[in-house]
Amino acid sequence: MKTFDSIRAELDSGKTSCEKITQEYLGVIEQGKRLNAFLAVFPEQSLEQARTVDKKRSAGTAGPLAGMVVSIKDVICVKDARVTCGSKILEHFVSPYDATVVSRLKQADAVIIGKTNMDEFAMGSSTENSAYGRVKLPQDESRVPGGSSGGSAVAVRAGMSTTALGSDTGGSIRQPASFTGVVGLKPTYGRVSRYGLVAFASSFDAIGPLALSTKDAARVLGVIAGHDEHDSTSAEVPVPNYLGALTKDVKGLRVGIPKEYFGSGLEAEVRDAVEKKIDVLRKHGAIIQEVSLPHSEYTIATYYILATAEASSNLARYDGARYGYRAKGANDLMEMYVQSRSQGFGAEVKRRIMLGTYVLSSGYYDAYYRKGQKVRRLIQDDFISAFKNVDCLITPTSPSTSFKAGEKVDDPLQMYLSDIFTTSANLAGIPGISIPCGNDRQGLPIGLQILGKHFDEATIFRVADFLETT
Ligand code: GLN
Repeated sequence: MKTFDSIRAELDSGKTSCEKITQEYLGVIEQGKRLNAFLAVFPEQSLEQARTVDKKRSAGTAGPLAGMVVSIKDVICVKDARVTCGSKILEHFVSPYDATVVSRLKQADAVIIGKTNMDEFAMGSSTENSAYGRVKLPQDESRVPGGSSGGSAVAVRAGMSTTALGSDTGGSIRQPASFTGVVGLKPTYGRVSRYGLVAFASSFDAIGPLALSTKDAARVLGVIAGHDEHDSTSAEVPVPNYLGALTKDVKGLRVGIPKEYFGSGLEAEVRDAVEKKIDVLRKHGAIIQEVSLPHSEYTIATYYILATAEASSNLARYDGARYGYRAKGANDLMEMYVQSRSQGFGAEVKRRIMLGTYVLSSGYYDAYYRKGQKVRRLIQDDFISAFKNVDCLITPTSPSTSFKAGEKVDDPLQMYLSDIFTTSANLAGIPGISIPCGNDRQGLPIGLQILGKHFDEATIFRVADFLETT
């Protein structure tokens, strides 16, 4: 497993080439097939791309990510490749264009190696909801890698690509990063273009990197961030030099510890590991203060009302007529809709569509959807007040470490609770990163989450990088 710095050093010393590096990753993917991290691998295209980058390197015209090999969650469009979203309904759907994040990676000379497995339409926390089989945790294959970007997290953890892109609507980058022991960033809403990301809940969705180091995550964000004319919700906020923010200095930094995130339901080993890291910051001159986010207890309920509402309307487009799967043998149009959707979607997606349709229906709209919107504002306001006094917040990423496959599939509420500390960042639109924070007694990775102010990824990168190397 190599970070981009060590790859670059090897490239510069002439020991290797982008083509050889790509070949090596392809070999690891082949050997690790049983983990089921990939839904598609691009051997010819990636080697071809690598050879072009090698030529550019000799000509001195290579981009900033030359030598980096990236895997892409299968909810993000890569031109001429299938984009299944882990669903049967899109099994044969081929994307006619590159998502903006993918074209920016290509322009920076990163090599795209394949598409990673995921919970169907990014709904889940264990990558067991894929129509193409579950993804296994490399450290213990009877366990889950988290989700929904489980394939991307495993690709990075198992050395199948240097970095990966995931999507995060309620924790889907950070929670699998935590379970597998890698770095995962959900940027500020609007920091990264969503053009070419298949929509789950449009006011929550964000694309971000998974990597072995904070530095690599910062590098990828630097390339994919910034305004895009194809996504009107992408913000016209300048992209700072994220690598320059990694100063290894936390003196005087004000760090808030939200007391609601350290209460019951949190595994003792997770709490201890996170508290140890907070002590490290204190010893190095950071100012640690307890803060309160009083509406925290409503985050899961609010997220599951609003995100399912948005999902039910976004997923209405899969009707068997325009996209993907169409059931055979229907006698009329309504039957075709019903059968295509009944056969094409899996159980969790159907549950979300039903929940979302219910909270939006005329008799219940005020009681659920409208009230949810109001509570979302209160949750946002909690963060805005907290950030008046602190520069960032530290919490556990998930209340537990990885669980056994099958353990929570029949209990959706238990599954939803894995996201208890991550959904708030999506409700508020703020950035959050998960970094490795040691292992529990069983050797399973623990994740620590750092939350920042809107568009202040630089500060959370700085704290993450400091903790990673101190
Ligand atoms: N696990 C959460 C859910 O199932 C979050 C998913 C996500 O971030 N895409 O909705």
